Amino acid sequence: MLDSLFRPRGVAVIGASNNTFSIGNRVVKNLITHNFKGGIYPVHPKESEILGLKAYPSILDVPGPVDIASIVVKSTMVPQVVEDCGKMGVKFVIIHTAGFSEMGPDGAKLQDALMDAARRYGVRVYGPNSQGVMNSDPDVSVYANFTFTPMRPGRASILAQSGGVAELLNLNLRKMGSGFRMYASHGNATDVNTNEILDYFGNDPETRTIIMHIESMKDTPGFIERCRRIARDKSILAIRTGRTAAAAKAVSSHTGSMMQQDSLTDSIFEHAGVMRFGTTEEMISAAYAFATQPVPAGPNVGIIANAGGPGIMCVDECVGHGLSLAKFSEETKAKLRAGLIPESYVENPVDVAATANADHFGLAITCLNEDPGVDSILIPMVTPFFVDCEAIGRKIAEVAKTVTKPIIVVVMTNENWASTVETIKSAGIPVFDFPETGARVLAAMARYSEIRKRLDEAPAGAAGDKAGAQEILSKAPAGFISQTDAFDILAAYKIPIARTSQIAAAELPSKIKFPVVLKVDSADVVHKSDTGGVKMDIARKAALQKAVEEMSGRFPGAKLVVQEQCPKGAEIIIGMKREKGVGPVLMFGMGGVQVEAMKDVSFRMAPLSEGDAARMVRVIRSFPLLKGSRNLPAVDLAAIEKLLISVSQIAMDLPEIAEMDLNPAIVYPEGQGIKVVDVRIKKQATNSTK
Ligand code: ADP
Ligand code: MG
Repeated sequence: MLDSLFRPRGVAVIGASNNTFSIGNRVVKNLITHNFKGGIYPVHPKESEILGLKAYPSILDVPGPVDIASIVVKSTMVPQVVEDCGKMGVKFVIIHTAGFSEMGPDGAKLQDALMDAARRYGVRVYGPNSQGVMNSDPDVSVYANFTFTPMRPGRASILAQSGGVAELLNLNLRKMGSGFRMYASHGNATDVNTNEILDYFGNDPETRTIIMHIESMKDTPGFIERCRRIARDKSILAIRTGRTAAAAKAVSSHTGSMMQQDSLTDSIFEHAGVMRFGTTEEMISAAYAFATQPVPAGPNVGIIANAGGPGIMCVDECVGHGLSLAKFSEETKAKLRAGLIPESYVENPVDVAATANADHFGLAITCLNEDPGVDSILIPMVTPFFVDCEAIGRKIAEVAKTVTKPIIVVVMTNENWASTVETIKSAGIPVFDFPETGARVLAAMARYSEIRKRLDEAPAGAAGDKAGAQEILSKAPAGFISQTDAFDILAAYKIPIARTSQIAAAELPSKIKFPVVLKVDSADVVHKSDTGGVKMDIARKAALQKAVEEMSGRFPGAKLVVQEQCPKGAEIIIGMKREKGVGPVLMFGMGGVQVEAMKDVSFRMAPLSEGDAARMVRVIRSFPLLKGSRNLPAVDLAAIEKLLISVSQIAMDLPEIAEMDLNPAIVYPEGQGIKVVDVRIKKQATNSTK
């Protein structure tokens, strides 16, 4: 429990100082100026007073209960100080000091020593190399942190490993007009870690949204499990940095080569119900809205504008980001027509016209709020000099109190109407400068409403002979297993495959009929067709004989397989890769050469729900090719989804499989199924799982 960390009764600052340019001074100052409700105890060996407060020569001399010791002494002194804190019953030490494990072996030794002292006394360690914590709850008002942005209460809680980024998030939330609830920047996270803080924020009833900056993930399964739980009632917004750092690894499968760190993060976040943002600005804008507005029930936006162009911009941006333009009921339109000025437009986007006054805005907002077809309201407004904009601002603020749907306002103006903007903001309504920002924020909110729904989806299962598949795997050597074994594993899960058999002489195994395909089956041949390892259209025995001779000559000693030749169709790829510390991740895309050239693939973590499978298929850019168009038939999407779920089941059942590529599976028109014609399965080298 982190209660004593975020709701301390007293804070000692060990290394407090009267020097304005020191962290020890800043922390004391921050605690004082933000009216910390508990005791503040500066500790300094010689000074008797710091910033007007009585100072103590040692933590051992401090009288009151101390839940947090904020430590800024030099690194070599930290282990002893932690020991003293232990003796005093301090619950948490926030170590701002750097110079520990991040600085090499000597630092690591110091870190071990301080952790050892902490463990002996049951002291929890926050940091080292950390900026600190804050809690804006007026009952606590603790600013145990050395940064400079003043604390303003809000309902977004900030969690960032990096102090610099945490400050950036807080600073800009504040500039927009919002504040935060709790704030944690935990540096090295040797003891108190991201997941634990996430739990604490998740359990805080006043936190409505959690904004995170993640540099590295430690316990990924734990992170996912928590987020899935928390995201049911609080939105979680995240930025992950270091996107470009992951160098492409030398990999042997399609799935591996395309699954860069970045898409892995996407899959993890997707599975966890965490919304990923590309820029801090977008994340903060959305956080502002999440912290102040209700979650929309769906994607239908109602727009109220007093100028045509910006209204249309909103439409474009909303639709471009997956939102829909709400269709108003006849009743809504009649009320608008009756109450607005004659030159208004009463369809969506509503144009109340530039001469609209406060009452017109009030009426439009009320009408949209009452229309069940509208899920959220976006108001892009200009501030014409010929109307009383101040009154419009007041009206929006007043009406908003009774509105049950999210409202986002965009005010396109200059400093002369700063007070209008303030009036709206002070009613807890997010105001942005650009129509596009407002639209994107609403899109993020609608996305969260979707996430909430899908967190309830159960993993889909597929029937399979797990024991049979395990047996095949256990007999195979590590590395790429044979084609026939790989196909047998698919068959154990009732996956439709092209009949495949090993061939000794040019004899056709009984169940296979011409035409056939002859293929080389060797762990060393990654792309068979590139090296003459696939011979198609073999129609007769004599031709097969000749092909066998040729291929044996080309790949001396390699095994050959003969396979039923399937009719042409759309080719897709389904892949699976088990990521260390994460679990199995599935990939879907169009098969063949396109797959590597276009990188048009989707990733999801197993186990998939039915909804996941459907979304995986639909998010790729080439989806229109599968969905069918004027001269292309729609393919059997249900068969693809079923296959994805079977592969997900295999991934969950058989941890010995490290990687798997089904490339291609040939999909036929709707209702006509799918056939896997090529599969590669790589067996884990050691017995490690997950
Ligand atoms: P590789 O991927 O190792 O080059 P494949 O077995 O995937 O070899 O074969 C290459 C291509 O040949 C496939 O993408 C598919 O277009 C075609 N092909 C392979 N086997 C069959 C088959 N049994 N029926 C129809 N087409 C096939
Ligand atoms: Mg292939």
